[in-house]
Amino acid sequence: MNNLDTLFLDRDGVINIKLEARYVRNSNEFEFMQGALSAISKLTKLFKRILIVSNQQGIGKGIMTEDDLNLLHSFMTFEIRKLNGKIDKIYFCPHLVREKCGCRKPKAGMIQQAKLDYPEINFENSYLVGDSLSDIEAGERMNLNTVKVDNEYTLAKWTAELMSVIK
Ligand SMILES: [Zn+2]
Repeated sequence: MNNLDTLFLDRDGVINIKLEARYVRNSNEFEFMQGALSAISKLTKLFKRILIVSNQQGIGKGIMTEDDLNLLHSFMTFEIRKLNGKIDKIYFCPHLVREKCGCRKPKAGMIQQAKLDYPEINFENSYLVGDSLSDIEAGERMNLNTVKVDNEYTLAKWTAELMSVIK
């Protein structure tokens, strides 16, 4: 048994392909990153829980509604479940930058909320995977182990590395 606890995942650029200068509004615009689905399936077995923490300013801008986002996330979790992957909870920040909320990354509000929802989380044994510096900064504020991914070093590659280390 490993001692991995909780995995925090950013969404755009980690689970699905990030669009250039626009928002993923529905399932037609949502395309999983290469290998992400099978990686999440493996990670589901390695971690006690997987939580998504995602900035979704498109809602604050009126480009999409919370209903649109929930529908999109139903599609995403359905596809993930097909491969026996499991997302325990999805946190999102709908606010605009100028609203100066406490949840938009690099602030740690979504992770702090997760700590309230799951008081048993052991942050020392938990990871945050994101593709931007604001993800990494939010994770570091909460003393999470952080992993920065990109189009080459993907979630799938990190997962393979992690599996080779813990075995
Ligand atoms: Zn917010």
